[in-house]
This record gives sequence, structure tokens and C-alpha cells, in this order.
Amino acid sequence: MILPSVLDVFKIGIGPSSSHTLGALKSGLFFRNRISGCDLTNSSVEVELCGSFALTGRGHLTDIAVVCGLNGLDVEKDGERFLEIYKTITDRGYIDINGFKIPFNPDKNIIWNKSFKNLSHPNTVRYRLIKNGTVIDKQEYHSIGGGMLEKETTNRNINEKACDFKDLNEIIAFCKKNGMDFVKFSDFFEEETYFNNKESINEQLKKRRKIMKQRIEKGLKTKGTLPGVLKLQRRAAKMFDEYVKNLRLWRMLSEEVTLTSIYAIAVAEENADGALIVTSPTSGSSGVLPAVLRTIQEKYRFGDDKIIDAMKVAGLIGSVVIKNGSIAGAKVGCQGEIGVACSMAAASACYLMDGTMEQIEFAAEIGLEHHLGLTCDPVAGLVQIPCIERNGAAAVSALNAANLALLSRAKHQISFDNAVKTMMEIGKDMNKKYKETSLGGLASIYKSR
Ligand code: SF4
Repeated sequence: MILPSVLDVFKIGIGPSSSHTLGALKSGLFFRNRISGCDLTNSSVEVELCGSFALTGRGHLTDIAVVCGLNGLDVEKDGERFLEIYKTITDRGYIDINGFKIPFNPDKNIIWNKSFKNLSHPNTVRYRLIKNGTVIDKQEYHSIGGGMLEKETTNRNINEKACDFKDLNEIIAFCKKNGMDFVKFSDFFEEETYFNNKESINEQLKKRRKIMKQRIEKGLKTKGTLPGVLKLQRRAAKMFDEYVKNLRLWRMLSEEVTLTSIYAIAVAEENADGALIVTSPTSGSSGVLPAVLRTIQEKYRFGDDKIIDAMKVAGLIGSVVIKNGSIAGAKVGCQGEIGVACSMAAASACYLMDGTMEQIEFAAEIGLEHHLGLTCDPVAGLVQIPCIERNGAAAVSALNAANLALLSRAKHQISFDNAVKTMMEIGKDMNKKYKETSLGGLASIYKSR
């Protein structure tokens, strides 16, 4: 795989999960496109959710996302209304594909296959188009994390002379040779490879930054109960009120640490509520980077352009992990989600504090290294426990990682690229109970309580 674009890391999607909600939705859209030229009279569509999709799909709204995708949902325009749109589809009993009314009943047309047998990826969905009782077309999609599908990365429009880079080490060597920093490299790479010029990338990132900010603001104001069997109460707004009213509570730690944690939780609660979200690199970990960026921007009063540059640095770290590793909880556990989010946020914080390329690389390495082995065991299949608090913890950890890198003049033994390799090794050895299946860890303790 060629090094992904920064826009592959920061995607606009719907919560609560990038792989299980946004990726699932895209699979529906892809299959819809695939069959949209067919005569769909007397047709039906069967969807088989397999492996991790079947095990945690209900809590992650995978079924709902698939149906909305088949019906052609425009994520940026109508993403926030996807639950309402799903209800409309199921109430009327059909999916509309170019005017063909395809009868659809989720209880009959969606098959939940919890087995991992014969799966080449744990997040697999199979679609079958049936006409007059015969399967006339079928397609399988794999959601590889962060809302990306495997097919998406191979079928894309890239420059024939696209440059590719093996890892972060090679990028640093290239930058040094050509007098670039990570931001200049990002602009160069986007244009050379994906035809994205600096202005268009900046516009796209501004749009994403706006959504990130909105999520913090809304999360700090919204109280109530999150969806799902846990009946979990939102806490960010209450904590923020407490923080404002009772300064004694945060004196043990710095104001920045307290607020960073609350900001991250605010976004993670929004994500858990199915809001419009920006993957960074995933939806489950989407609170970490916005929280760190906001804290540093508030403290040092950076302009938005500088924050956009910091997003490019974070995006580069995420791109390298997507290329050489994985950001899917179903593949490598939470180390690939929260661990990578922490790594990206640490790199962006280090950049904002004028860190050198080596210090930024070190900050990213520290952010990932100390999340190695982190399991994914979401309670009741919801992206709530441990996910929401984990965003708060990782955001604070990212600030610490940047600090450590800035203080130590970047001398270190383990490179970021080796931390990514290690994450993959651990991911391979990790029992599937801890890879987004809700079969072990906190999820099984909750079941047996
Ligand atoms: S535990 Fe981590 S990887 Fe698993 S759903 Fe929660 S945030 Fe995602």
C-alpha cells in the first residue's frame, strides 16, 4: 500500500466506530454503486456481517450503517440524522436504489455470522444480490480501520509518478536531504501523489477542524444518558461545570491536564452518541487529538493555520501506521486506536512546541510505546467503557510524551517505526477475545457481574 493521504487519516464520519460504523456504511455505499446499473426488479439484498462485525456490530450500529449505506446516505450532509433515516427505511420496509424499491427487513435480510472461519479479515461483510431466488451478484468488503475499506486503498486515483515512502525513518531522511520539515513534506507528498494541492488540503482540514471544535463545544454542554444497555451518564459537561465552579478540584494537577482530559471525554461522548465525527485516526479514539490541539491553542494562542499544520504532522504519523501497521481494534486491539491517537497527538504537540523532526518522531514513539499491548474489550459492544475515559487518559499521556521528547533532545533506542512493528507483532499474538469482540476482559467481567 502506498503511504495514505492525510485525508485518509482524518475522515468525516459518524460515531461510534470508524471500522464498524463508517467502514460498514461505506461498504453499503460501494455495493449500492456496484449494482446501481442493474435492473433491480424483483430483487433483494442479503447482508452477512461476519467475525468482529457480528460480535460487536449491534453496539457499534453496524447493521444500521450498512442499511443507510445501501440507501445512499450522504455522510457529510445527513450523517447526523442517520438513526432517523434508518427508522424511515425500516418503517417503510424498503431500500431505494435509483428508484427501485428493494424490500428490506433487517431481521430477515441481515445475517449475523459470529464465526471467524474462512475470514481473511476480522471485519468482513458480504453482500448478495438475489433476483427471482438466485444470487446474481456478490461482493465481500473488509473494513481495515479508521473508516477505510481494503478496496478503497487499491482502487484509488493516484499520480502515475507518485512517490512512496517506506516508513518514518525514510521520510525524515528525505526531508533532511531536501530541506523540508514534516509540514512541507506533507504538502509536497499530497500534491505529488494524490493531486491535492496545499490550498485544497488546507480547506479540507479546516472543515475537519471545525467539526472537531464543534464536538468539544457540544460535548461540554450536553448532559443525559448515552444510547445502549449500559445507560451510561454523560460526564464531560458535569465535570466542566465542576471545574469552573470549584477550582480546588483541579489544583492537584495543572489546569491544562484537567481540561485536556475533559475535552477528550466530551468528544468521545459525542462519538458514543452517534454524532458527526472526524476520525483521528479512528472514531473510538477521536477525542485525543482535538483535546490536545485545543489545550495548546488556548494556552499559547496559536492561530488556526498553525493548528492545521499540526494536524498535518499528526496525519503523517497516522499514515505511516496505516501503511505499515493497523489502526483496527479488531486486528491489533486498542493499541492501534488509542495508542496511535496518542502518538499522533504527541507528535502534533511536539511540533507546536517547536520540536525538531527527531523530537517529533520521539514523541510519537513514546505515545505509541506506552500503549503497546492495550486490549480492545468494549463492554456490551458499545464504544463507551473503557473507550470514553481512555480518550481522556491518552490525551494527557500525549502531552507528557511531547514534554519528555522535548526535554531529552530526542536521544532514544527504539524508533517509532520499530514501535509500529512491535504493535503488529503483539497484535498477531493477542487473543481474539481482546480484539473488538467483547468476548474477554472488561466485557466478560461486566457480563458475569
Ligand atoms: S477499547 Fe479502544 S479499540 Fe476498542 S472500541 Fe474502545 S476505543 Fe475502540
